[in-house]
Amino acid sequence: MSTIRLLPDQLISQIAAGEVVERPASALKELLENSLDAGSTDISVALLQGGVKQLRVADNGGGISQDDLTLALTRHATSKIATLDDLEAVASLGFRGEALASIASVSRTQIISRAASARHAWRISSVGSQIMPVEPAALDAGTIVEVSDLYFNTPARRKFLKTEATEFGHCDDAFQRIALARPDVSLMLQHNGRAVSRYQAGPAARRVAEVLGQEFADQALSIEESAAGLRLWGMAAKPTYQRSSRDSQYVYVNGRFVRDKLIAHAIRQAYQDVLHHDRHPAFVLFLELDPALVDVNVHPAKTEVRFREGQSIHRFVFHALHKVLATPVGTATPASHN
Ligand code: ADP
Ligand code: MG
Repeated sequence: MSTIRLLPDQLISQIAAGEVVERPASALKELLENSLDAGSTDISVALLQGGVKQLRVADNGGGISQDDLTLALTRHATSKIATLDDLEAVASLGFRGEALASIASVSRTQIISRAASARHAWRISSVGSQIMPVEPAALDAGTIVEVSDLYFNTPARRKFLKTEATEFGHCDDAFQRIALARPDVSLMLQHNGRAVSRYQAGPAARRVAEVLGQEFADQALSIEESAAGLRLWGMAAKPTYQRSSRDSQYVYVNGRFVRDKLIAHAIRQAYQDVLHHDRHPAFVLFLELDPALVDVNVHPAKTEVRFREGQSIHRFVFHALHKVLATPVGTATPASHN
């Protein structure tokens, strides 16, 4: 008698959802990344009850065709890669084709979308993994994804949710990380019907000031360094602008917000001589390199990366920062004057 069995599709998605949709904020991150991958220049987010009751993301991107709507909710279905070569050169934020399926498997999800060439919009909805037939809908352009009642069918998961304020805080963090990375995109965030953030597309320095505050922008030094196919740019606060927590530390690799020990270590080392040891530096740094030299397929949430040549990345980041921080105060260019 066989004891090994194939799991049903819905259960597989729910297991995957454990990794991809840890909390409402992780679902929001995935929805925002999808909107960006679709080329959106204007994205509005509306949350209800910390995102647990509802997450709604509306964009003006390329949209999804009628035929693709069902596939969008299907596991391992993606428009972003087709081969292993594509994976190694991946420039989009998504590529695993599992976020929407995972989210849908633990919520009530609705997508309304109009592809650029379509004569009208289409709508698909699902309850858990049960997908309803696609039907005509009204929408001028782009896509609206509505995720309601997260974990309604997985009570064990739901128990791990924190208070509305905490879950909202995480959603806000996810939103601000995207906002910092994409000053070229207009973004709006609402919670329980109240406007929280509204950013117009514009220069990077202005977005940084809007998200992290004028004080940070005034205290920040510009970083711009390129060598051997690596580029590091952004802003790092002068040592005089200290934080008691790590709440103003942002590192992006090829446009993706990451938590990386190697880069964090290089930054800490660069600040070591100029910052008191129990204080935390503040920075927004963008590292760009050939996608073939960095593996983003480490974890479904994609906030971890692995570098092929870690030591040279470490050296590069350290030197780029150290150079700017070591420049005597007064001679370095304040970032906001660029
Ligand atoms: P991935 O982003 O890894 O491809 P997802 O499950 O997040 O996987 O999305 C599946 C597919 O649905 C995407 O490849 C894309 O073609 C489509 N899609 C999702 N969201 C949007 C959106 N906002 N606009 C246009 N297409 C979208
Ligand atoms: Mg995606």
